[in-house]
Amino acid sequence: MKSISRRAWVLYLMTVAFICGLAFLLYTFFLNADSWSMKKANRHIYSSSTLTTAGSITDESGAILAATVDGKRVYNESKSIRTATLHIVGDSEGYIASGVQTSYKDVLTGYNIFDGIYDLKKYGKGSDIQLTVNAELCRTAYEALGSNKGTVGVYNYKTGELYCVVSKPSFDIQNKPTQSINNDKNGEYDGVYLNRFFSGVYTPGSTFKVITAASAIDNIPDINTRSFECKGEYKIDGSSVKCLSTHYTLGFEKALNQSCNSAFAQIAVELGSEKLTQTTQALGFGKSYIVGNITLAKSSFNLAEASKLDLGWAGIGQYTTRVNPCHMLMIVGAVANGGTSPVPYFIKNITSPTGKTVFKGKTEMLDPMFTQSTAQKLNELLRSDVVNNYGDYRFKGLEMCGKTGTAEVSSEDGGLRPHAWFVGFSQRNDLPLAIVVVVENGGGGSSVAIPVANKTMQKAEELFNE
Ligand SMILES: [Zn+2]
Repeated sequence: MKSISRRAWVLYLMTVAFICGLAFLLYTFFLNADSWSMKKANRHIYSSSTLTTAGSITDESGAILAATVDGKRVYNESKSIRTATLHIVGDSEGYIASGVQTSYKDVLTGYNIFDGIYDLKKYGKGSDIQLTVNAELCRTAYEALGSNKGTVGVYNYKTGELYCVVSKPSFDIQNKPTQSINNDKNGEYDGVYLNRFFSGVYTPGSTFKVITAASAIDNIPDINTRSFECKGEYKIDGSSVKCLSTHYTLGFEKALNQSCNSAFAQIAVELGSEKLTQTTQALGFGKSYIVGNITLAKSSFNLAEASKLDLGWAGIGQYTTRVNPCHMLMIVGAVANGGTSPVPYFIKNITSPTGKTVFKGKTEMLDPMFTQSTAQKLNELLRSDVVNNYGDYRFKGLEMCGKTGTAEVSSEDGGLRPHAWFVGFSQRNDLPLAIVVVVENGGGGSSVAIPVANKTMQKAEELFNE
């Protein structure tokens, strides 16, 4: 009798241990299923570290950017398109973290937590993804950058569809120059796996004057009738913020047109740290925006330790301020669209292996960045920049609004040329597109970034005017 009850106890304990073990197994399975199944060792999906049985990726016009044919991953037949779309499509090894082949790998391979790689076993592939991006437009933008590094982004400021996402340097995915990338002495491939549009941050230079201007419109009631004296520099605390030339006496609009540093340093000092910081917070500085499956690099604006001189520099987009190009595009998009930008998106639709549309990209609005009246005023000012300063002939027929930037890079970097920026948009109702261009160490915003913006926008006009 004694021994029987002992045996029953042992059995009971063993059962409890078994159930606990099973629960633990199930628990860790659900926790790790994703990584177990997606491990590179899983030969169903990967063969020598490349995606071989994933769904296709097409551009907005239906052009193939990536597809699997006979167990081999193939890309667009044009080398220039493969190179220009590399960062949005992603590489096959997962180095470009924000590329669709990496960030949407589960969709492309048909993996889900309940069925494992069910679609893959049943249909031999996962879902197909169509992008909102146009490959021809990407090629035009990529080529317009010439031999420079940088990024170009274009989106529809009413719907949020991204039509162009280009990051340079890039490479041809079909003939990856692995040797040159690994042994990159001249920096030719510096940051090649980074999509600069989503993941880069840059000193904004004078493009930031749009933001200082917004703060001035909101906080200085008589800003439109003010006049500023420019003697070629604005003296603060024994030092000064310099202009490229002497602008003499100018009003607010002219000060923005001619990008007068003295005037904008004065405006920033008058606004003070608190108000300028409030404006940048309303615009989403310090915030992590999500675009598709990607978290954008945060833009930063921090005046906590700033002297009066630093505040002057911050007002013209220098000091420690850094801006993400996609975020900058959203800011000018909000100016164009009455104060509110749509969330940019790049997935047009996802089609399951059985041909069902399982996801459709749609327009969602961000919180308002500007009041409607501030947006309207900025819209007029940015149009005036093009008409009265850069010249409408440089954007023939586009009715462009915009602001250039020539962002000085720290002299500790060895006297590098400044980054050239252009941000702007078309006022045409049939062409609701905004653009951001950053040419790294390109030189002047007007001489270098405007031609890139114009070539890209002219191509977009050809492709997208309604
Ligand atoms: Zn000046």
